[in-house]
Amino acid sequence: MSVFEMPDYDGHEDVAFFADKATGYRGLVAIHDSTLGPACGGTRMWAYADSTAALTDALRLSRGMSYKNAMAELPLGGGKSVIIGDARTAKTPAVMRAHGRAVDSLGGRYVTAMDVGMTEADMETMASVTRHVAGYAQPGKSGGDPSPMTAWGVFCGIRAAVAFVNGSDDLKGLRVAIQGVGNVGYDVARYLKEAGAELVVADVNDKNVARAVETLGALAVVPELIHAESADVFAPCALGAILNDTTIPQLKAKIVAGGANNQLARPERHGAAVTARGILYAPDYVINGGGIIRVCGQIYDWSDDDIRARTTRIGATLTEVFAAAKRDNRPTHEVADEIARARIETAKISKAA
Ligand code: NAD
Repeated sequence: MSVFEMPDYDGHEDVAFFADKATGYRGLVAIHDSTLGPACGGTRMWAYADSTAALTDALRLSRGMSYKNAMAELPLGGGKSVIIGDARTAKTPAVMRAHGRAVDSLGGRYVTAMDVGMTEADMETMASVTRHVAGYAQPGKSGGDPSPMTAWGVFCGIRAAVAFVNGSDDLKGLRVAIQGVGNVGYDVARYLKEAGAELVVADVNDKNVARAVETLGALAVVPELIHAESADVFAPCALGAILNDTTIPQLKAKIVAGGANNQLARPERHGAAVTARGILYAPDYVINGGGIIRVCGQIYDWSDDDIRARTTRIGATLTEVFAAAKRDNRPTHEVADEIARARIETAKISKAA
């Protein structure tokens, strides 16, 4: 089967395969769409079963980045790269340089950021051979860890969802159940606490639970039950696939809005199931767009104030998605995909004119 026949091929502009005999490096870069700007998305290093699995992931994730960047109103297209191999055993500086050279050979049409299996040190190693790297602490540039901006965007998104359901964005006295109080979840909890919300948290890492309990007065519950808490908002900030056949019937919150990626186990099935239960779901890739806004700000040298203002706008974007979904009685993630596609198509038409 060629790339063009693969189910996840979606008119991708470019898919490039790279190998380096000396190091055993094998990787690929997928550029889904560059209408809005250079394609940007992280490098993922993973022990894929075979190259078809790696290609499938690159195709799927690069399209996801086109949508995410469009919904964040960024001058960036969608791309993603993968390195085939176990990051714990197969990653060496020479492999990272080989990948950096692969990225560089695309001449800036693709800019990489961090994803699963990458560390700041790996980004620095890549940066020794290409300047098309962003999303880590770079000397002389603002930016670095995108988590704080992701958390701010998630908080703005929760506020927008609450306003949509309650007619007021007042969070005072509302109960929010947060799954995962790591980098993103803890900062979301902090903003919610400042806004007067009551917090219920769960995490498999006891230290992170203790931090939320001690510094924010959160109530801790066992991780297995956090999604079923009696709460106004359920905020998944840990792993993907938390909205599935088992958890959806057990949800008590009327709003699901959190930073985790890929919250719907199977988008077509579980997006519809959440909608059928009358629960408002904030599409994950829209509400967690603050991180990529931060990365984009580093690429284009935006001020911190500008980056924050753009991240705050995630709330307004979500309101637009919620309103269209309600009007048409459709799942919010479908509506978000449609708006993203329309933004890219509109830009295409105006570029061609
Ligand atoms: P993190 O590792 O700092 O935090 C995740 C937390 O979830 C950890 O404390 C972990 O112990 C906890 N956790 C793991 N499994 C759990 C379970 N079963 N139940 C409860 N808690 C569990 O990661 P992060 O950077 O905060 O990212 C959180 C989520 O947000 C991820 O899905 C990530 O892909 C997504 N995301 C992060 C960013 C960012 O800027 N960091 C941007 C976009 C999306």
